[in-house]
Amino acid sequence: MQRKPIGQLLKELGFITEEQIQVALEVQKYVKKSIGEIFLELSFVSPQELAQAIARQSGKEFIDLSLYTPSLKALQLIDKHTALQLEVLPIEEKGNRLMVAVSDPYNLNAIDVIQRKTLLEPEIYVSDRESILRSIEIHYERLLKPIEVQIDELIKAVQTNEANLPRLVDLLINSAVIERATDVHISPEIVASHVFYRIDGVMHHYYVIPKQLHQLIVSRIKIISNMDISEQRLPQDGGFSYTFLGENYDVRVSTVPTAHGENVVMRLLPKNLSLFNLKSLGFEEDTLQEFEEVISKPYGMILVTGPTGSGKTTTLYAVLRKINFFRKNILTVEDPIEYKFPFIKQTQVNTKAGYDFATAIRHFLRQDPDVILVGEVRDEETAEMAVRAAITGHLVLSTLHTNDAVSTIPRLIDLKVKEYMVASGVLAISAQRLIRRNCPFCSKEVFVDAQELIGLGFSEELVQEHTQEGKVRVMRGEGCENCRNTGYKGRLAVAELLKVDEDIGDMIIKDSSPLAILQKAKEKGMRTLKEDGFLKVVKGLTTPEEVKRVIG
Ligand SMILES: [Zn+2]
Repeated sequence: MQRKPIGQLLKELGFITEEQIQVALEVQKYVKKSIGEIFLELSFVSPQELAQAIARQSGKEFIDLSLYTPSLKALQLIDKHTALQLEVLPIEEKGNRLMVAVSDPYNLNAIDVIQRKTLLEPEIYVSDRESILRSIEIHYERLLKPIEVQIDELIKAVQTNEANLPRLVDLLINSAVIERATDVHISPEIVASHVFYRIDGVMHHYYVIPKQLHQLIVSRIKIISNMDISEQRLPQDGGFSYTFLGENYDVRVSTVPTAHGENVVMRLLPKNLSLFNLKSLGFEEDTLQEFEEVISKPYGMILVTGPTGSGKTTTLYAVLRKINFFRKNILTVEDPIEYKFPFIKQTQVNTKAGYDFATAIRHFLRQDPDVILVGEVRDEETAEMAVRAAITGHLVLSTLHTNDAVSTIPRLIDLKVKEYMVASGVLAISAQRLIRRNCPFCSKEVFVDAQELIGLGFSEELVQEHTQEGKVRVMRGEGCENCRNTGYKGRLAVAELLKVDEDIGDMIIKDSSPLAILQKAKEKGMRTLKEDGFLKVVKGLTTPEEVKRVIG
């Protein structure tokens, strides 16, 4: 049977453009590599995206291994050596079947070996090679010695020999990566110090460290972060690069002196291209289309807003990825650069050297730009320059700290941007939050009273639409070992997109109230954050309580 070309499939999945395929084919004339490998080398797609195309090509399903914890029983069925050699990860036994992830679904030998070794019928899922090898390293370790046990042993070992300190700090980070944590907190208290991980936006307590080790650990982190270890009375910032099982992270470190010692927070920023995809972030189909529409405009401003930690940069990067960098000259100024894209001229703010957002925009205008990304609009000068650039023929992408789309308008006016400039310069404002996704392993159907949902602030009209015999069907996780008994695993974006068309523009110029603008936008079909959240609830992706927790 003829296999559909990988480039074609990647295009169908929305990961690359025809032009990128042509460029890769040109490159292939000189490099003896598969087209897939060339896409990866050019950073056009991520390994996970390529695996999704291979899955589709072979008629199998793709599996995101970061969301799965293989059962110990399944791991015992195939030894680590064989797993590494064949690039297969056993995940779960289901009756006479065995769920396995493979990197190459066409490797019939591997499938044959699994069958002979386990006497089970393999149920094949496709993942990328890197994720499979990483997962093998992480999970087979659990058969020998779980990382929590190793950390506890090391804590004891450091007490007698400080030479174990670097390894302990490494393991605390490794453990955070395995748990998909975004932040590691090391917080001193009266009798001991505590390690917390923030996972899917929520803090979880993990380890207790004896008080006498606290400053040693802090000093070790400060050394690798390029901070001054003798200074313990003032807050400091720093950072380092970290690699764990082939995946790279930027770690941003901050210390603050508290009554019980220095509190440390390490933010882990994964460098993974597949994060930047509007669809997998959770944007609804109609919102995606509206995004596509404004992105294709030659000029104007697109703003992504929300509080800190709402995933604004991720969305902005996903938008950036949709722009054809062979046809458009793209420049960015960021604080800091969180991911490096091919063919995009990215620069980083350097306040000490006098390079700030506004200075950058001024210089970019002499670089023949089509698209300018400004990391954040936070002062009058940047606001003015960015909107001006948008009016004078450039597509400008940026973020702003506001709670919802409509309140971005008075915020810009506060920043001394004239009403008529907001009206003619801004194309669209997308406000967003991140909410936790139901755990796929333990979520079950539940029927909730319509009245209860209305009590949580969901609109009566919307709730009624989904009510049958007074109840609404939702999904809720019971909690299992895959989700640390939280019922949730992973996050998704909830968004509202306000398009500034002529009508809305007129209202801005006439200084209409945000409430009146909101009313008008809703008439035109804008779904608010809360309504988008409700849509995710009835789709079974999250719970009503989670939407209430995050959006209010
Ligand atoms: Zn679960």
